[in-house]
Amino acid sequence: MTTPVVAEIALNVPLYRNFDYLVEPQFQTNIAVGCRVAVQFGRQQLVGIVVALKSNSEFLDKLKPISRLIDNNAIIDRHMISLIEFASHYYQNPLGECYQVALPTLLNKGEAVDKSAVPIIKLIDENTSVNGKKQRQLIEHLVDSGSTPVTELSALGFSSATVKSLLEKAIIEKTVEYNRDWQSKPLAIGDKPKLKREQAIALAAINQATGYTCYLLEGVTGSGKTEVYLQALEKPLQQGKQALVLVPEIGLTPQTVNRFRRRFPNVPIMLWHSAMTDNERLSTWRAAQTQSAAIVIGTRSSVFLPFAKLAMIIVDEEHDLSFKQQDSLRYHARDLACFRAAKLAIPLILGSATPSLETIHNATNNKYQLLTLTERAQTQSDNQYVLLDMRGQHQQSGLALATLDYIKKELTKGKQVMVFLNRRGFSPSLICHECGWLSQCQRCSANATYHKHIRNLICHHCGAQEHVPTQCPSCGSTQIIPAGQGTEQVAEFLAESFPDTPITRVDRDSTRKKGSLESALHDINKGEPRILIGTQMLAKGHHFSEVSLVVIMDVDSGLYSYDFRATEHLAQLITQVSGRAGRSGEAGTVLLQTHFPEHPLLQDLINNGYQDFSRYALREREETLLPPYTSLAIIRCESHKLNDINNFLYDLIPEQLPSGIQLLGPVPAALERIAGKYRYQLHIQGNERKKLHLYLHQLVSYISQSKLATKVRWSIDIDPVSM
Ligand code: ADP
Ligand code: ZN
Ligand code: ZN
Repeated sequence: MTTPVVAEIALNVPLYRNFDYLVEPQFQTNIAVGCRVAVQFGRQQLVGIVVALKSNSEFLDKLKPISRLIDNNAIIDRHMISLIEFASHYYQNPLGECYQVALPTLLNKGEAVDKSAVPIIKLIDENTSVNGKKQRQLIEHLVDSGSTPVTELSALGFSSATVKSLLEKAIIEKTVEYNRDWQSKPLAIGDKPKLKREQAIALAAINQATGYTCYLLEGVTGSGKTEVYLQALEKPLQQGKQALVLVPEIGLTPQTVNRFRRRFPNVPIMLWHSAMTDNERLSTWRAAQTQSAAIVIGTRSSVFLPFAKLAMIIVDEEHDLSFKQQDSLRYHARDLACFRAAKLAIPLILGSATPSLETIHNATNNKYQLLTLTERAQTQSDNQYVLLDMRGQHQQSGLALATLDYIKKELTKGKQVMVFLNRRGFSPSLICHECGWLSQCQRCSANATYHKHIRNLICHHCGAQEHVPTQCPSCGSTQIIPAGQGTEQVAEFLAESFPDTPITRVDRDSTRKKGSLESALHDINKGEPRILIGTQMLAKGHHFSEVSLVVIMDVDSGLYSYDFRATEHLAQLITQVSGRAGRSGEAGTVLLQTHFPEHPLLQDLINNGYQDFSRYALREREETLLPPYTSLAIIRCESHKLNDINNFLYDLIPEQLPSGIQLLGPVPAALERIAGKYRYQLHIQGNERKKLHLYLHQLVSYISQSKLATKVRWSIDIDPVSM
């Protein structure tokens, strides 16, 4: 290439464009696409990525020079660049912002790629004679034991001055090495069961893959999906290639990780999740890149790890909503995994007991290959569902008397019972018995939740807290009572009803203290009779072998919602929660409290299972022209001033829409106000994905020029998973 004179840089600024900078002669030999640079932008120094090099520019004399070249080699390869460019294009986000999301924090701050690695000292010239005694000893040590991490040298009594003087004489060198031994050793495989017929068929199909194929492994909890993943990993690992296993945030438990480590004891398995430090994350990132990690098990953003030899991607619980990022770059990790696998021509395995309707649609269209596991690997019988009709039932703290009888029966058998209610706190609000005043958040269009043990009202949306009033703020009455139930109340009531049975509550409040979730899980796994009460946190991932009854308290709120995905999510939740019951050999009971026992969704789900329900739900989506039969995007907008929102959103509605594009709105978001800001949205639907994207590109480029847009906070959400 001719001498690069101008570099196009992606910067993390909210503008839909890249920026040209001058490449001065001292950088011209080393600069490459994929290097980071520091540049002056307005009054700040920013770190950016070189995305293109040019030999000329018509504005040459107006360009500022690059201040510093941070990397002498590209830190990401062509494949990563194309992945990030795809994300920017598909999700309509500025490229610089996409790099910000895709790269580890330390790299965005301009730190060296090897910052988190411990350098080693290596002998390069043992023949030069030195005078110092310590220096001679260090050379002898290196001759005997080979290269040694810097940190160990001080423990061995070698001062940094000794090291420094040998470094200066070029007798030793300081480098970073990444261990890739696992690739040359034969793969060790821990004990494994003989696959059942359906598992064996699934594995054979996956092993046959040449190039890209996406498999949907659909099977109830406990049907042996993880076992199939483990055995499918053998082939890439035996070839010294790498694999990525994506799991939901909540699914990354020590049990999961240990299962992989026990199966593959001699390959390095590394993690990636939000609780890791910046240094730990950079070290996993580098390990993926240098092939010193064989497998990475990670949450959403691990889809951006720069594997050098990626040969398989697995997405466990592919329907899980945590795979979709809900701010900045609103990407779906499963969908980007799909892009990556196709681009690299490698197999992708999506596993779930309750696949998303999008994925099932792709499987029935033969875009994905469907592999089904129908039997539980260790249990013969299926769980039994009970629809408990709540109409006219006497109830206390949201539990019907009949439900209490069911609970009692299981406890006397020595079993455990799990009660599920996706609402923490004591009650979702307080109400005045005299005048009907309701505790509400001042800044949100939402109730303020009553937390009894700390005697506070807390808004779960903006976090605002206040003391419980002693008198009604509206009429002065002292008759202020809880309205509705949260987990705190149900736990209290169950403790009164079953005074001899220990109760464990698992929700965000009860597990705030570090280690408290682990200790709760430990208590549960002792297996004595016990009642577990919890939210979403109980629904996923954990295996409770002694639970024989699951009670789902609040089924009805999911049946009638304005979000068209609510029924899908309810069916997934019921199926997932019920997967917690009856894992130890016997069938369990799943009790659903509802006022609508004849509802066709519930009937279909409990009589025919999720598979049948999902096919039925898909037909409904097709008839009503909803995703996945159409494509959807949402323009969201926030501001303290409703007027600014209206001006901005109404300005986006054209007099005539292109054919095949529909607009709905502006409509208020599910919560119209949060923390004092109004929230409105515009839904844009297209019969064809391509047409919609073309239209959105025009729209976004219009918005990025619009003055009205500068007065509000706006964002675009492609393929939203919730309204
Ligand atoms: P899933 O991932 O679908 O929930 P798992 O792979 O975790 O299912 O399997 C559930 C349980 O059954 C695990 O304890 C697993 O070790 C066991 N298991 C899986 N496959 C087999 C098999 N072929 N033979 C015996 N046990 C199995
Ligand atoms: Zn009142
Ligand atoms: Zn609030």
